[in-house]
Amino acid sequence: MKKTKYVFVTGGVTSSLGKGIIAASLAKLLQKRGYSVTIQKLDPYINIDPGTLNPYEHGECFVTDDGAETDLDLGHYERFLNIPTSQANNVTTGRIYQSVINKERKGEFLGKTVQIIPHITDEIKHRIQLLGKTGDYDIVITEIGGTIGDIESLPYVEAVRQLLWEFGHENAVSIHLTLIPYLAAAGELKTKPTQHSVKMLMQSGVSPDILVCRTEHKLNDGIKRKLALFCNVQEDAIIESLDAETIYDVPNLMLEEKLDEVVLKKMKLPVDNKPKLKDWNAFLNKHKNPKNTIEVGLIGKYVELHDAYKSIAESFIHAGATNEVKVNINWIHSDELTPENVPSKLKGLDGILVAPGFGDRGIEGKIDAVKYAREKKIPFFGICLGMQMAVIEFSRNILGLKDAFSTEMNPNTPHPVINLMEEQNSVVDKGGTMRLGAWKCKLADDSKVKSIYKKEIIEERHRHRYEFNNTYLEQIENAGMIATGKNPDTNLVEIIELKYHPWFVGVQYHPEYKSTVLNPHPLFVDFVKAALEHSLK
Ligand code: GLN
Repeated sequence: MKKTKYVFVTGGVTSSLGKGIIAASLAKLLQKRGYSVTIQKLDPYINIDPGTLNPYEHGECFVTDDGAETDLDLGHYERFLNIPTSQANNVTTGRIYQSVINKERKGEFLGKTVQIIPHITDEIKHRIQLLGKTGDYDIVITEIGGTIGDIESLPYVEAVRQLLWEFGHENAVSIHLTLIPYLAAAGELKTKPTQHSVKMLMQSGVSPDILVCRTEHKLNDGIKRKLALFCNVQEDAIIESLDAETIYDVPNLMLEEKLDEVVLKKMKLPVDNKPKLKDWNAFLNKHKNPKNTIEVGLIGKYVELHDAYKSIAESFIHAGATNEVKVNINWIHSDELTPENVPSKLKGLDGILVAPGFGDRGIEGKIDAVKYAREKKIPFFGICLGMQMAVIEFSRNILGLKDAFSTEMNPNTPHPVINLMEEQNSVVDKGGTMRLGAWKCKLADDSKVKSIYKKEIIEERHRHRYEFNNTYLEQIENAGMIATGKNPDTNLVEIIELKYHPWFVGVQYHPEYKSTVLNPHPLFVDFVKAALEHSLK
């Protein structure tokens, strides 16, 4: 049973400063010094989880093994730390209120007036300590979403204030991440926004122990001294965070700035073991020195916002490094594809990935892209909706089932090759009701996927409502599209492959959620390899 210490990360001045990456980088350094660490994200919005959010709002919804639909920062945590997260790692205001209101309805507050302080803050404190109470972690890092000064973050900052006081200085530290803007006209870095942000934090009773300052230019000693003086922070705890070439550089940058050392010293934990970053740096070295470049098309309907496909893009970085190639992602809007323009729009691609998604916007463009990849024998990777579109394309164009479709797009299709499972028919609520989380899948002998995974039973994460309709299985397999992965308990089709094609794989699950820096996903690695071979032809 470990005695857990806590690190709280808040953000000031603006959003999008990269709190998640700083938290993940600090966690990586601590982990590589031998500490067991996990990271948690508290999101101040009222949705119960981001599962019902349009990707344009907050980017991708990341799914954990236990089926939690979470913020995309959890993806960074897993990719950096190489350990899985769970529902306990992401809590929203909606979830906090939901549990407090449920308790109130059960009469658990014994007639008391239920209030933000203490009831909401107590629930926040309880959620923060849940991971620590497992006894598995030396250090839990809690990232508070939003920016200091937001009305919605106030209860969180209050909960942090109480915990810092209850735990005492040696058991908890507070990191504040801010921006030091550069005024080109004055040729100067400006500390005032940070001073104001810290002042606002202090008004809530939280005094930061460490300031991490995002900046485009190096902070000179004068600036550091000024920040220390005005913000009540020791000078060695003013950490410069320069813009990095890649997010994967940030652990090394934070190491140079001694962020991990400062945190450990404040918590009176040993700093003798230097972080062992050999494997991390080996990855970085390969990532930065590719021997070849390949062009991969990512066909989706949210491509304007790359964050909507964050885990896929990162999986390509991991798989690219393994193959020592640079994967150039061509972001292609499925809405803009037609049978006529597909040859010109997809020309020159070495691999085509049809992305996950919901609803019918841009759906025919995805089907056209599958057809092109199938006929031109370009490596094809279909993920979730992408796999479903591959089945539809095959049914329409090879089996001649003209109007084959998914009942998601056409409930009255004469050929519902993709349809709802029995138990989904009665579901009306949208939130948290899909097939979610890790499910087993058995791989067929002599399949490409078995040779790639090199095992028979795999577990992958799901997030979908619709499924391959097994009524069509025999017909589809006889024509050359083989179900090479099935759920061993339910027989649901999880993977399809094309027989006469160099690399054509569709998966009903989301492999991208499991790719990490130190464990690149085998399917992405092999797809990139196939695309590389295609490019060298
Ligand atoms: N919309 C499809 C379904 O619900 C696919 C979902 C996805 O791509 N994540 O089954």
